Amino acid sequence: MLTVNRLGVLGAGQMGRGIAQVAAASGLEVLLFDAVAGGAERGLDTITQALQKLVSKGKLSEAEQSATIARLTVARDLSAFAHVDVAIEAATEDVHIKNQIFADLDNVCPAHAILASNTSSISITGLCAATKRPQQVIGMHFMNPVPVMKLVEVIRGLPTSDATANTVVALAERFGKTAVIARDIPGFIVNRILMPMVNEACFALYEGIASAADIDRGCVLGLNHPMGPLALMDLIGLDTTLFILQVLHRELGDDKYRPCPLLRQYVAAGWLGRKSGRGFFEYRSSVVKLTADG
Ligand code: NAD
Repeated sequence: MLTVNRLGVLGAGQMGRGIAQVAAASGLEVLLFDAVAGGAERGLDTITQALQKLVSKGKLSEAEQSATIARLTVARDLSAFAHVDVAIEAATEDVHIKNQIFADLDNVCPAHAILASNTSSISITGLCAATKRPQQVIGMHFMNPVPVMKLVEVIRGLPTSDATANTVVALAERFGKTAVIARDIPGFIVNRILMPMVNEACFALYEGIASAADIDRGCVLGLNHPMGPLALMDLIGLDTTLFILQVLHRELGDDKYRPCPLLRQYVAAGWLGRKSGRGFFEYRSSVVKLTADG
């Protein structure tokens, strides 16, 4: 099993930031890279604010906060990943982008390094094939928000070695998570079950069955879910939800995964959920829900 000291996180969106935070908190040296200029710096700012919140709630000491921040470094260039032991990719859910990233990581990262993807649906075996180290490529699927959610799905591609899988399970445990192992079939465990459910909620709104607020209320009070499916899509990101449904629909060839036209329309409008300030609900800040559609 590989000893992991240095981690590279590629993609500083909501997932990459969360992964970088829990990794640095666990004692790893973490590099954070984003393709968009200033993206990694913004990611670091968000992590700093999140840690500050934990300090003010008494859940983290100031010493732990500064030690965690000191272990985080912004990488301006992917060449900084030349010394990482593990790279975790958390970029946009697009197979072309991810294939290119894995080819680039393969060129830059040292020969011993494991390359992991946080993809929600894209084939890990396909990402293995984008590199010359297929036995060291694996899926490491964190849940959102990463610092809070306890699960990591570990997905083995066909060529992934036992040593790679064992290292990644141990890494998830070091982050305080519980790992479950899933086969490399689109959607793995959680999204295979979640995506048809949230898509169906979108159809319910599209067909005028109830207002967005009442659809969510129905699931919270009637199914005992901690949040409604429409609010959950707003948290995931409607663009990411649409990407995942498109992969499931294409790869599994089953119409039960066809994305609801309303979801496509919201994404076309730029209503991406919390990250854009509006999805099925409106958000004036990242926490305040103001109004519900319908
Ligand atoms: P996001 O849109 O918040 O962030 C994606 C980031 O990737 C952006 O900052 C973007 O600039 C960056 N990026 C795009 N192309 C890049 C490249 N070539 N190199 C470096 N950075 C690049 O998306 P997210 O919600 O953080 O999702 C990221 C990944 O995590 C996706 O694969 C998604 O399916 C998966 N995921 C998302 C959730 C969720 O709830 N949102 C949960 C689990 C897994």
